Amino acid sequence: MSHSPASGPDRRTVFRGAALTSGAAVLGGAFTVSTAHADPVRIAEPALYTRNDWNARTPSSPVQVLAEPPTQIVVHHTATPNTDDLSEDAALALSSSIQDFHMDTQGWIDAGQQLTISRGGHIMEGRDRALPAIREGTQCVGTHVANHNNTTIGIENEGTYTDVEPTSELIDALVETLAWLCEAYGLNPDAIVGHRDFNSTECSGEVLYGMLPELREQTMSVLEAKGVQVPPSARVDPADAPTYPAVPDDEPDHAFYHGPVRGPDDISR
Ligand SMILES: [Zn+2]
Repeated sequence: MSHSPASGPDRRTVFRGAALTSGAAVLGGAFTVSTAHADPVRIAEPALYTRNDWNARTPSSPVQVLAEPPTQIVVHHTATPNTDDLSEDAALALSSSIQDFHMDTQGWIDAGQQLTISRGGHIMEGRDRALPAIREGTQCVGTHVANHNNTTIGIENEGTYTDVEPTSELIDALVETLAWLCEAYGLNPDAIVGHRDFNSTECSGEVLYGMLPELREQTMSVLEAKGVQVPPSARVDPADAPTYPAVPDDEPDHAFYHGPVRGPDDISR
């Protein structure tokens, strides 16, 4: 199998122009196709594999897209083995297996997460419409963090990081992705959080969770180096965030399980 990751910057520019145009229409402004006043895109979209590349199944129902962008980026681990297979084929197979599990076992309409990163550093589109939503600054509602799906975007990082670090390939791709998302959604890197900040879960693993301060710093460095206007920090103390549900004694021990992903406050399916 041979796939080329989509090359983004040109298409991104087109999409962003389209989003601004439709935004003007929504606000009742004059139609214009000019993007002369648009902020320049400084962080290129990472090379990534679209749903077509991994032969994604059609969602069982249309996914929801909200006009409001997400306010936080949630880092997860997939709770799957720490494979040594860093190939593209392994990455595409991972996306398929996650989608199958979420649709056939969990009964959701599609893969729960918006983006997936393999241990080889391959980045994949997850839920349907995730990529167009990022490009236009809207929110494709996923199913990955209970009671906060309406306001967050989730990245599934392949592996289980309770006591080992991710590969350098994964970390490099994750920082690239985080910087891209921060610019696309106008977020300060303090918006990068872990699943356990919201729900009672081991996810994203003690080690990967512990790397979040470093990941925020690396992301900020990328943004500053590219001259991106970073908004002020809007950090909320995770201790003040409600967790859901009550703390379980042990995580269920099976692949893909990484804590609560849907709650009564969510509109996601
Ligand atoms: Zn998680």
